[in-house]
Amino acid sequence: MRKKTQIGYLLKPHWLPLSLAFIAVIGESITDLLEPWPIKVVFDNVLGSKHMQPWLANIVSSVAGHDKLSILAFVAASVLLIALVGAVSSYFEKYLTTSVAQWVSHDLRRTLYHHIQRLSLSFHDNKRTGDLITRITNDISTVQDFISQVLLGLLVNVLTLVGMLGVMFYLNWRFTLISLSVAPVLFVVIYSFTWRIKKASRDVRKKEGEIASIASEVLGSIRVVKAFTREEYEQQRFEQQSLETVESALAARSLKAKLTPIVEVIVAAGTCLVLWYGVRLVLAGTITSGSLLVFLLYLGKMYKPMKDISKMTDTISKTAVGYERIREVVETDREIRNIPGAVHAPNFKGQIEFNHVTFRYPDRPLTLNDVSFHLEPGQVGAIVGPTGAGKTTIISLLARFYDPTTGEVRVDGKDIRKYKIKSLRRQISFVLQESLLFRAPIWQNIAYGRPEASRKEIIEAAKLANADEFIVRLPEGYDTVVGERGMTLSGGQRQRIAIARAIVRSSPILILDEPTSGLDAASEELVFEALMRLMEGKTSIVIAHRLSTIQRADVIFVVEKGTIVQQGTHEELLNRGGLYATLHAKQFRDEETAAVTVE
Ligand code: ADP
Repeated sequence: MRKKTQIGYLLKPHWLPLSLAFIAVIGESITDLLEPWPIKVVFDNVLGSKHMQPWLANIVSSVAGHDKLSILAFVAASVLLIALVGAVSSYFEKYLTTSVAQWVSHDLRRTLYHHIQRLSLSFHDNKRTGDLITRITNDISTVQDFISQVLLGLLVNVLTLVGMLGVMFYLNWRFTLISLSVAPVLFVVIYSFTWRIKKASRDVRKKEGEIASIASEVLGSIRVVKAFTREEYEQQRFEQQSLETVESALAARSLKAKLTPIVEVIVAAGTCLVLWYGVRLVLAGTITSGSLLVFLLYLGKMYKPMKDISKMTDTISKTAVGYERIREVVETDREIRNIPGAVHAPNFKGQIEFNHVTFRYPDRPLTLNDVSFHLEPGQVGAIVGPTGAGKTTIISLLARFYDPTTGEVRVDGKDIRKYKIKSLRRQISFVLQESLLFRAPIWQNIAYGRPEASRKEIIEAAKLANADEFIVRLPEGYDTVVGERGMTLSGGQRQRIAIARAIVRSSPILILDEPTSGLDAASEELVFEALMRLMEGKTSIVIAHRLSTIQRADVIFVVEKGTIVQQGTHEELLNRGGLYATLHAKQFRDEETAAVTVE
C-alpha cells in the first residue's frame, strides 16, 4: 500500500505520455528562445548589411539562397514555423501533463479510499469525517496541480531562462551583465508579491469555508435556531464572516493589482538601461542592432517564467503538505487485519463465548474488565446496564470492530481472530438503534447486506419484518428512493426495513442494539413482532432496555463499569436482588404496569 503512493510508482505507468510531454517541453523552450531571431535577421541582414553568424548563414543559404529577398522569405516562413511548432508543443505539453495528472489522481484517490474504508473503527473514532474528505478531495488535487503545472512546467521555465541567458552571453557577455542588473530586483519583487498574494488568497478561501460551515451548521439545525428565536444572532454571525471575507478578498485584489504595474516599471527601467548602453554599443559597432533587439525582447519575456516559477514554489510547498497528509493515512496500518493463516469461517452454528476479555480504547482507562460469558446456538442473550457500562463495546468486539486487549472472543469454539474478517462479519447481522438507510430504492436498501438477493426474497423478508404493508403504499413501492438519511420514513418504518435487511442476510448470529428505543408504543409492537421472527433460530445478543425484549432472553447479562456483575433469567435475577432488581425497580416498573393495564 505504501509503495502505491510513491510518486515514482504512480508516474511509472504513464512514462510514454510523460516522455512525449518532455519532448514538447523542449520544443516549447526552443521556440520561445527562437522567437526574436527572425526580427534580428531582418534588421541585421535584410535591412542592414551585417554578416550573419556563420552557422546561421549556412542554414539560410542552404535553404533560401544569398539575396536579401530570399532571406526575407526564409525569415517570414520561419516566423510562422516557430509559432506553429511552439503552439503544437504547448498544446501537447498541457494536454499530456493534464491527462497524466488526472489519471494519477484517480489512482491515488482509489488507493486512499480503499484504505480508508478498511481502516479500523478506532482510526475512524479519532479522525473527523470532514478531515478525511478533505484528504480525498483537496489534498489529492494539490498533487494533481503539481503534476499538471509544476512537474514539467518548472522545466520549461528554467530551460527558457537558462537558454535566454546562454544566448545573451553568446551575443555579448558584458552587455548581458548590464542588461540583467534589474533581473534580481524583478525576481525579488515578483517572488515576494506572489507569496503575499497566495497567502491572501488562502485567507479568502479559508474565510469562504467558514461561511459555508456556518451556513450548513445553522441550516442543518434550523429547528433549534427557530425554537430559540436566534435568527438575528445567526444573521449577525453570518454577516460578520461575510464582511471579513470581503476584506480579505479586497486585500488580495489590491496586492494583485499592484504587481503588474510595479513589474512594468522595473522592466521599463531595465529597458532604459539596455537602450542607453545598447544603442551606444550599436553606434560603436560592438553589437548589431538586431542583437540589441534580441536583448530587448528577451528582457520583456523574462517576466513570465519568473512569475511562473514563483507561483510554482507555492504549489510545491502545498503539494508537499497535501502529499504528506495522504501518505499519513495510507501508512496507517490496519489494526484489525487477517492474521497469517486465518481461515475462511465455515457456516456458523452460532455458539458465542467471551473468555476473560479485557479491552481499552486507545489512551483510555479499561472499558471492559475480565468479561466472560457464553451463549449456545439459538439462544438470546440480553445485555443490560447503565449508560457507559460497556454494552456497545461488547458487541463491537464480537464483530471484530476492535480486538480485545487481552482474552479472546470465540465463535463455535474458535478465536474469531483465526477467521478471515469478511467471512466472520458475513455471518453477523446488525439492527442498531437508529438504522441508516442509503439514498437508494427501498429494495436496494433491504438487499444491502446481500446484493444478490432476488426480488422474491426481498419481498418475503419485508413481509416478515412487517414492512411490506407500508412499502406497497409508497408512491413507487419497492422502487421508492429513500430520502437523505431516511428522512421521509418514520423511525419505526426505518427499523422495519433494517430488520428486513437482516432477514435477507439470514446470518446465524444477530446483534441488536436497542432497536426499539425511541419508538412509540404502536410502532414498537410492530417492530418487536418483526424482531421475534428475525431472531427465530439465531443466536442473538440484544442490548435492551425494554422489559419485553429482556423477558424473552434466555440469559440476561447485567453489566456495570465494564464487568458482568450478574447473570441469569429475569425471574432469577429479580429474586436475587442487586443491580438488576434496582434497575428493574427504577426503569421497568412503569412499563410493567403499563403492560399489565393493557392486558
Ligand atoms: P454503553 O453501550 O454501555 O453505553 P459503551 O460501550 O458505548 O457503553 O462505552 C463504554 C465506555 O467506553 C464509555 O466510558 C465510553 O466513553 C467509552 N467509549 C465508547 N466508545 C469509545 C470510543 N470509540 N473511543 C473511546 N472511548 C469510547
